[in-house]
Amino acid sequence: MTELELRKSILSTAMSMNALGINRGTSGNVSARWKNGFLITPSGRRYEDTKPGDMVFVDAGGEPHGKWAPSSEWRFHFDIYRDRNDVHAVVHTHSSFATTLACLGKDVPAFHYMIAVAGGNSIRCAPYATFGTQKLSDHALEALTGRRACLLANHGMIATGDNLQKALSLAVEVEALCEQYWRALQIGKPRILPAREMNTVIRKFRDYGKARKS
Ligand code: 13P
Ligand code: ZN
Repeated sequence: MTELELRKSILSTAMSMNALGINRGTSGNVSARWKNGFLITPSGRRYEDTKPGDMVFVDAGGEPHGKWAPSSEWRFHFDIYRDRNDVHAVVHTHSSFATTLACLGKDVPAFHYMIAVAGGNSIRCAPYATFGTQKLSDHALEALTGRRACLLANHGMIATGDNLQKALSLAVEVEALCEQYWRALQIGKPRILPAREMNTVIRKFRDYGKARKS
Protein backbone atom coordinates (compact mmCIF):
# COMPACT_ATOMS: atom_id res chain seq x y z
CA MET A 1 0.00 0.00 0.00
CA THR A 2 1.29 3.50 -0.82
CA GLU A 3 1.35 6.26 1.79
CA LEU A 4 -1.54 8.03 0.01
CA GLU A 5 -3.62 4.83 -0.01
CA LEU A 6 -3.00 4.37 3.72
CA ARG A 7 -3.92 8.01 4.45
CA LYS A 8 -7.18 7.48 2.50
CA SER A 9 -7.92 4.24 4.39
CA ILE A 10 -7.38 5.91 7.78
CA LEU A 11 -9.79 8.68 6.84
CA SER A 12 -12.41 6.28 5.42
CA THR A 13 -12.13 4.14 8.59
CA ALA A 14 -12.75 7.24 10.73
CA MET A 15 -15.75 8.21 8.55
CA SER A 16 -17.09 4.62 8.75
CA MET A 17 -16.85 4.73 12.54
CA ASN A 18 -19.33 7.63 12.53
CA ALA A 19 -21.48 6.24 9.68
CA LEU A 20 -21.82 2.93 11.55
CA GLY A 21 -23.07 4.79 14.62
CA ILE A 22 -20.20 3.71 16.88
CA ASN A 23 -18.83 7.24 17.20
CA ARG A 24 -19.80 10.82 16.46
CA GLY A 25 -18.40 14.27 15.81
CA THR A 26 -14.68 14.70 16.38
CA SER A 27 -14.60 12.04 19.12
CA GLY A 28 -12.46 8.99 18.56
CA ASN A 29 -9.35 8.60 16.43
CA VAL A 30 -7.75 6.14 14.01
CA SER A 31 -4.16 5.26 13.15
CA ALA A 32 -2.10 2.77 11.17
CA ARG A 33 1.57 1.82 11.32
CA TRP A 34 3.66 3.47 8.62
CA LYS A 35 7.43 3.09 8.16
CA ASN A 36 9.13 3.62 11.55
CA GLY A 37 6.07 5.35 13.04
CA PHE A 38 2.38 5.73 12.31
CA LEU A 39 -0.18 7.93 10.55
CA ILE A 40 -3.04 9.25 12.69
CA THR A 41 -6.15 11.41 12.37
CA PRO A 42 -5.59 15.08 13.30
CA SER A 43 -6.92 16.36 16.64
CA GLY A 44 -10.35 17.97 16.85
CA ARG A 45 -11.06 18.04 13.09
CA ARG A 46 -14.39 16.94 11.61
CA TYR A 47 -13.66 13.90 9.45
CA GLU A 48 -15.97 15.27 6.71
CA ASP A 49 -13.76 18.36 6.41
CA THR A 50 -10.54 16.38 6.49
CA LYS A 51 -8.39 15.25 3.55
CA PRO A 52 -5.91 12.36 3.34
CA GLY A 53 -3.07 14.92 3.43
CA ASP A 54 -4.30 16.07 6.87
CA MET A 55 -3.39 12.74 8.51
CA VAL A 56 -0.36 13.34 10.75
CA PHE A 57 2.79 11.21 10.66
CA VAL A 58 4.25 10.53 14.12
CA ASP A 59 7.81 9.20 13.92
CA ALA A 60 9.62 6.68 16.12
CA GLY A 61 10.67 9.47 18.48
CA GLY A 62 7.08 10.66 18.94
CA GLU A 63 7.60 13.77 16.77
CA PRO A 64 4.60 14.81 14.67
CA HIS A 65 4.96 15.82 10.99
CA GLY A 66 2.12 17.59 9.19
CA LYS A 67 -0.07 20.67 9.07
CA TRP A 68 -2.29 19.73 12.04
CA ALA A 69 -1.67 18.50 15.58
CA PRO A 70 -1.94 14.71 15.85
CA SER A 71 -4.89 13.24 17.77
CA SER A 72 -4.63 14.14 21.45
CA GLU A 73 -4.46 10.36 22.06
CA TRP A 74 -1.30 9.88 19.96
CA ARG A 75 0.48 8.64 23.12
CA PHE A 76 -1.54 5.46 23.46
CA HIS A 77 -1.31 4.83 19.70
CA PHE A 78 2.48 5.36 19.99
CA ASP A 79 2.83 3.07 23.03
CA ILE A 80 0.66 0.33 21.50
CA TYR A 81 2.79 0.22 18.31
CA ARG A 82 5.99 0.24 20.39
CA ASP A 83 4.87 -2.59 22.66
CA ARG A 84 2.78 -4.74 20.35
CA ASN A 85 4.38 -6.12 17.17
CA ASP A 86 1.08 -7.82 16.30
CA VAL A 87 -0.80 -4.50 16.03
CA HIS A 88 -0.77 -2.48 12.78
CA ALA A 89 -3.95 -0.41 13.23
CA VAL A 90 -5.75 1.19 16.17
CA VAL A 91 -9.35 2.45 16.35
CA HIS A 92 -10.58 4.46 19.35
CA THR A 93 -14.31 5.24 19.63
CA HIS A 94 -16.82 6.64 22.12
CA SER A 95 -19.48 4.07 21.14
CA SER A 96 -22.57 4.26 23.34
CA PHE A 97 -22.80 0.80 24.92
CA ALA A 98 -19.06 0.28 25.44
CA THR A 99 -18.91 3.74 27.01
CA THR A 100 -21.96 3.06 29.18
CA LEU A 101 -20.29 -0.06 30.64
CA ALA A 102 -16.96 1.81 30.87
CA CYS A 103 -18.73 4.35 33.10
CA LEU A 104 -19.22 1.53 35.61
CA GLY A 105 -15.47 0.89 35.45
CA LYS A 106 -15.95 -2.86 35.23
CA ASP A 107 -14.48 -5.53 32.95
CA VAL A 108 -16.94 -7.25 30.59
CA PRO A 109 -16.91 -10.93 31.60
CA ALA A 110 -17.39 -13.98 29.34
CA PHE A 111 -21.19 -13.71 29.22
CA HIS A 112 -20.96 -14.72 25.50
CA TYR A 113 -18.33 -16.85 23.79
CA MET A 114 -17.59 -14.00 21.32
CA ILE A 115 -15.79 -12.17 24.13
CA ALA A 116 -12.86 -14.32 22.94
CA VAL A 117 -12.54 -12.19 19.74
CA ALA A 118 -10.86 -9.60 21.95
CA GLY A 119 -8.23 -12.22 22.84
CA GLY A 120 -9.21 -13.57 26.26
CA ASN A 121 -11.98 -14.40 28.69
CA SER A 122 -12.89 -10.78 29.45
CA ILE A 123 -12.67 -7.32 27.95
CA ARG A 124 -10.83 -5.31 30.57
CA CYS A 125 -11.71 -1.77 31.54
CA ALA A 126 -8.68 0.50 32.03
CA PRO A 127 -8.96 2.83 35.05
CA TYR A 128 -9.87 6.44 34.34
CA ALA A 129 -7.25 9.03 33.48
CA THR A 130 -7.62 12.40 31.68
CA PHE A 131 -7.83 12.11 27.89
CA GLY A 132 -4.56 12.60 26.05
CA THR A 133 -2.33 11.82 29.04
CA GLN A 134 0.55 9.39 29.48
CA LYS A 135 -1.34 7.98 32.45
CA LEU A 136 -4.28 7.03 30.23
CA SER A 137 -1.85 5.37 27.82
CA ASP A 138 -0.20 3.42 30.67
CA HIS A 139 -3.60 2.21 31.89
CA ALA A 140 -4.72 1.31 28.35
CA LEU A 141 -1.56 -0.68 27.65
CA GLU A 142 -2.01 -2.69 30.82
CA ALA A 143 -5.68 -3.42 30.01
CA LEU A 144 -4.59 -4.54 26.53
CA THR A 145 -2.10 -7.11 27.83
CA GLY A 146 -2.90 -10.31 25.93
CA ARG A 147 -5.96 -8.59 24.42
CA ARG A 148 -6.89 -6.85 21.18
CA ALA A 149 -9.45 -4.47 22.73
CA CYS A 150 -10.26 -2.76 26.02
CA LEU A 151 -12.66 -0.26 27.55
CA LEU A 152 -11.45 3.07 28.95
CA ALA A 153 -13.29 4.06 32.15
CA ASN A 154 -15.65 7.04 31.75
CA HIS A 155 -14.45 7.45 28.18
CA GLY A 156 -14.80 4.76 25.46
CA MET A 157 -12.94 1.84 23.95
CA ILE A 158 -9.83 0.89 21.97
CA ALA A 159 -9.80 -1.86 19.31
CA THR A 160 -6.65 -2.98 17.53
CA GLY A 161 -5.91 -5.20 14.56
CA ASP A 162 -3.34 -6.23 12.01
CA ASN A 163 -5.04 -3.85 9.57
CA LEU A 164 -7.61 -1.03 9.65
CA GLN A 165 -10.51 -3.17 8.50
CA LYS A 166 -9.89 -5.72 11.28
CA ALA A 167 -9.54 -3.04 13.96
CA LEU A 168 -12.82 -1.42 12.82
CA SER A 169 -14.64 -4.79 12.69
CA LEU A 170 -13.43 -5.55 16.20
CA ALA A 171 -14.71 -2.17 17.42
CA VAL A 172 -18.13 -3.00 15.92
CA GLU A 173 -18.11 -6.44 17.56
CA VAL A 174 -17.05 -5.09 20.98
CA GLU A 175 -19.84 -2.51 20.79
CA ALA A 176 -22.40 -5.26 19.93
CA LEU A 177 -21.16 -7.38 22.85
CA CYS A 178 -21.43 -4.42 25.23
CA GLU A 179 -24.99 -3.80 24.03
CA GLN A 180 -25.89 -7.48 24.55
CA TYR A 181 -24.32 -7.53 28.01
CA TRP A 182 -26.14 -4.31 28.93
CA ARG A 183 -29.45 -5.78 27.68
CA ALA A 184 -28.93 -9.04 29.59
CA LEU A 185 -28.21 -7.06 32.76
CA GLN A 186 -31.62 -5.35 32.42
CA ILE A 187 -33.53 -8.60 32.79
CA GLY A 188 -31.40 -10.78 35.00
CA LYS A 189 -27.95 -11.99 35.99
CA PRO A 190 -26.03 -13.13 32.89
CA ARG A 191 -24.47 -16.59 33.18
CA ILE A 192 -20.70 -16.40 32.78
CA LEU A 193 -18.90 -19.09 30.77
CA PRO A 194 -16.20 -20.92 32.75
CA ALA A 195 -12.50 -20.24 31.99
CA ARG A 196 -12.07 -23.80 30.68
CA GLU A 197 -14.76 -23.30 28.04
CA MET A 198 -13.34 -19.91 27.05
CA ASN A 199 -9.90 -21.50 26.58
CA THR A 200 -11.52 -24.00 24.19
CA VAL A 201 -13.16 -21.11 22.26
CA ILE A 202 -9.88 -19.15 22.13
CA ARG A 203 -8.16 -22.27 20.70
CA LYS A 204 -10.92 -22.74 18.09
CA PHE A 205 -10.62 -19.08 17.05
CA ARG A 206 -6.98 -19.68 16.03
CA ASP A 207 -8.23 -21.60 12.94
CA TYR A 208 -11.45 -19.67 12.43
CA GLY A 209 -11.71 -18.18 8.90
CA LYS A 210 -8.44 -19.82 7.82
CA ALA A 211 -8.05 -22.11 4.79
CA ARG A 212 -8.40 -25.85 5.41
CA LYS A 213 -5.15 -27.69 6.01
CA SER A 214 -4.60 -30.17 3.16
P1 13P B 1 -8.85 13.90 19.15
O1 13P B 1 -9.78 14.74 18.27
O2 13P B 1 -7.71 14.72 19.68
O3 13P B 1 -8.44 12.63 18.45
O4 13P B 1 -9.67 13.50 20.46
C1 13P B 1 -10.80 12.70 20.42
C2 13P B 1 -10.83 11.75 21.58
O5 13P B 1 -11.55 10.78 21.50
C3 13P B 1 -10.01 11.99 22.80
O6 13P B 1 -10.06 10.89 23.64
ZN1 ZN C 1 -11.61 9.51 23.29
